[in-house]
Formats: sequence, structure tokens, C-alpha cells
Amino acid sequence: MQLRRRDLEIFKNLINGQWVPAQSGETFEDRNPARNSEVVGVFAKSGKPDIEAAISAARAAYPTWRLVPAPRRAEILFRAGEEMIRRKEELAQSMTREMGKVIKEARGDVQEAIDMVFFIAGEGRRSHGFTAPSELPNKAAWCERQPMGVVGAITPWNFPSAIPIWKLAPALVLGNTVIFKPASDTPLTAHRLVEILNAAGLPKGVLNLVHGPGSVCGNALVESDDVDLISFTGSSEVGRHINAGCAPSFKRVSLEMGGKNGIIVMDDADIDLAVEGSIWGAFGTSGQRCTASSRIIVHKAVVEEFSAKLAARAKALKLGDGLDEKTDVGPVINKAAQQKILEYIEIGKAEGAKLLAGGAAETSGPCADGWFVQPTVFGDVKTSMRIAQEEIFGPVTAVIPVGSLEEAIEAANSTRYGLSASIYTRDVNKAFHAARDVYTGIFYFNSATIGAEIQMPFGGTRETGNGHREGGTQVLDVFSEWKTVYVDFSGALQKAQIDN
Ligand code: NDP
Repeated sequence: MQLRRRDLEIFKNLINGQWVPAQSGETFEDRNPARNSEVVGVFAKSGKPDIEAAISAARAAYPTWRLVPAPRRAEILFRAGEEMIRRKEELAQSMTREMGKVIKEARGDVQEAIDMVFFIAGEGRRSHGFTAPSELPNKAAWCERQPMGVVGAITPWNFPSAIPIWKLAPALVLGNTVIFKPASDTPLTAHRLVEILNAAGLPKGVLNLVHGPGSVCGNALVESDDVDLISFTGSSEVGRHINAGCAPSFKRVSLEMGGKNGIIVMDDADIDLAVEGSIWGAFGTSGQRCTASSRIIVHKAVVEEFSAKLAARAKALKLGDGLDEKTDVGPVINKAAQQKILEYIEIGKAEGAKLLAGGAAETSGPCADGWFVQPTVFGDVKTSMRIAQEEIFGPVTAVIPVGSLEEAIEAANSTRYGLSASIYTRDVNKAFHAARDVYTGIFYFNSATIGAEIQMPFGGTRETGNGHREGGTQVLDVFSEWKTVYVDFSGALQKAQIDN
């Protein structure tokens, strides 16, 4: 039965430990992209005053929170992790309902958040600094991490539990306070995560959640002089705007942005394995991953065989509601995304690429009420084409024929992005050449461009990022500031670098 809007729960913001509506009283709907008539929830549509209230709460909570011993802060994260394990299936189901990814992947997204929360909670008893010998007698030197202050976390919809936790967990364990502005397409998963973290024992004001449009709420965080760090994951277009917005105040900004990731398939590759990996890399999460394998750079000697097998596999994928365990590919996030993807398909055809599979919206059977695009494969793609350069963020991949390893590496490097790449080959020399010369943040051998693990640094080069890394212990560098401490216990004035 379809609920009328007035029967639906209205989800609020969390500000200073209280669940409160937007000050304007406005709301917005969260709809299921697989069944557009289904409203998943109604959420506070916040504005600048709500963000300002959240910033005040975070600022007020900071002096006390930063002095809570890190192992105690971590205990809260451990408790939250336990609760996430208990509620894993519920979190995964509601994620699939609000953003469409197939249920197995939604479970993986929650698992990634669980893994990250436990990994980072361990930093409560580590977050190591180091000591170094002083050049002077009776003097000690060490360095340690100090929190940054108030963090604004702005996140996308495609990994609605993993990406927020990549930011919230390290920010909190290091002693920062946070305002979390999630994507407007996935407010329910954000609500559930914050509910869990809050119930695990965070003091009021330490973690604040504000729903609402990025152009208003995200922007207010960027422009505020009371926010010390913006941690953003999303498109390069919005990231560029945020970067410029943070520049006047020299606010630290960590940007994780788009990708145009290439798989290289050499003539000596296991072709069936490469096809298998390409299907997963290109069409997992309906191609809506920053690491999606949207380009497949294939040696001419095997391109015909590879393309035929890839197209056949793409055509056989089952589209539908991600809650159905048999579905291979779910919907795309919304109507605007569907239209943008279909426009890119037209661009590809007009550019002279050869359509080998898909190429249209899917509107029949289980897809009748959602935003679906057929898994699409283009052949004969040249690196200069827009479909080989621009992030489509949908189930579309481009097969680019090349004549040598050198040409393949050049093709892999030919975009403005640099997140992930991979090579399928049985020749270890070729694999090592490609790993060295492809300029990305992540590289795989004999695997697709997706599948990052949380204990390793995650991020990319060029327009994918601005040099920071999430994941691994490297993420601690985003959310903390180094302090070097010198202790002179000589009782005399000693001058470093100056001959005594
Ligand atoms: P967007 O850039 O559209 O949005 C990301 C977040 O920014 C949302 O919370 C959005 O709010 C907010 N936002 C939008 N406009 C502004 C603004 N002017 N000021 C401040 N905040 C703003 O990205 P998507 O959500 O569509 O996510 C897809 C993109 O994310 C792809 O490009 C993908 O490659 C990238 N991505 C990168 C990853 C990485 O680690 N490198 C990982 C995952 C995704 P609202 O939703 O309300 O518009």
C-alpha cells in the first residue's frame, strides 16, 4: 500500500543532541529510484540558519570533546560498530530502497562502514606520533596529532554508509566535532548512521546532522569562518566550487572527486577473466562508482573476441529492483541522472562509436516505474571522444582498441582524472610497467578498477583529488594537525643550528 505523505515519518536534523525540524518547517521527499511512486521518507529541508545552529553547537562542544582521552572516544565508535553489525540488514535494505544498488552491494557498503569504524576506533589507542633525537644535549623532541576543530562533512549518495563513516569515524576519534551534510538522495541512511553514533554515547553537539540542498547547506559550511575543515566527496564540478570557497580563509579542504577509470586488457590476458572483471567494474552499482571501469583499453589482437564476449554478457544482465536477490543491475539514482546518461549515449553514437549492447532506457517489466538504463557497451572508441573523457556515472563503458602496451598506458593516462586503473596480463614485466607509469591513486593487477579495502589509502591524482587520502591511517592526516614539541631540560639557553 502506498502511504500518503501525511502518514510518513518526518525525519529531522540532529543539532546539539536534539532532533529538530528545519527552522523554516520545510521538508523534502526521498523516493525509491526503482519505484518512483514510493516515498521512502520525508526529511527536514534545512537552510543557512539550521547550519549556523549546528556550527554553534559543534563549536561549543569542541573544547570538552578534544580533551576526552582518545581511547574513551574510541569506545563510543566500538559500541556504534557493534550496533551497525546488529542492524546491518536493516541498513542495507533501506539503502537499496533509497538509492537502488542491489542488496548484495548494499550489504557490502554497510560492511565497509563497519570495517572502517572498527579500524579507526583502534586509532584511539594509536594515532601515533614519533620522537626524534635532538641535536642539542638535554633536549627532547616529539610530534603528536592535535584535532582541527569543527569539521564539515559533505558526502555523495553512491556509498551512503561507507563514505560518511570514512569521514565521521576519523574526525571523531581524533577529537573534532562535526556537522554532517549528506546527499539529498540518501538522507535515510545518513539518519540511521547518526542515530546509531548518537545512541552509542556521543555528547551533545559533537556530531550534528543537517539535511538540505548542497547549494545552500553545503555552501554555508564552506563559507563559515567557524568551520576549520571541509571534507568533501562528490563531483569534480562541485569540488572545484568548494575548493575556491575555502581558499580565502585558507580553510583545509579534502576533496575526493570523479573518475574515468581504465582497465587495460593485453593480448596475453585471460580474456574470460577480463570480461568477468569488466562486467563487475562497469556495471556494479549501475556504473555509479567513482572507481567504475568506464573505459576498457584492449589490445587490437584480442579486441574482437573481448568485445563480443563483453557485449553478450552485458545483454544478459538482469535489471530490476535491487531488493530482488536475482537482480544484477539496479536503477540509476534519479530522472536527471537517467537523462544525462541517455544524452551521453547519443553523444557516443554521434561521435562515431559503435553501439555493441544496450543504448536505451529500460521501461518494461520490473523497470516500469523506475529510472533504469540498459547496460551499454560502445566499441571502436577513440581516446579523444567525450564518452572516453567525461564521467558519465552510469552503466556505460567504452572499449578503446590499442596496438601496444605503450599506447595502452598513454590511453589510460589520457583523461583529467586519476583515481583507479588496472591491467589484465600474464606478463609480469608488462604489469609492472603499467603499475609504474599509469598515474592514478589506485592500481590493480588482473582485477577491475573497483574493490578498494579500507585499511589502504584511497584517493586519486589530477582532478580526482587534491592530494589527501581517505582510508588507511593516511586519513588521520586529513583530520588532524601535527604539533612538534621541544623540551629543553638543560637549564641553559641552547640555540639550535647556531654553534655554541
Ligand atoms: P555532487 O557533487 O553532486 O554532490 C556531493 C555532495 O555535495 C552532496 O551532499 C551535495 O548535496 C553537495 N553539494 C552540491 N552542491 C554543493 C555546493 N554548491 N556546495 C557544497 N556542497 C554541495 O555528487 P553526487 O552526490 O552526485 O556524487 C557523485 C559524484 O561523486 C561522482 O562524480 C563520483 O565520481 C564522486 N565520488 C567520488 C568518490 C571518491 O572517493 N573519489 C567516491 C564516490 C563518489 P545535494 O545532494 O543536496 O546536492
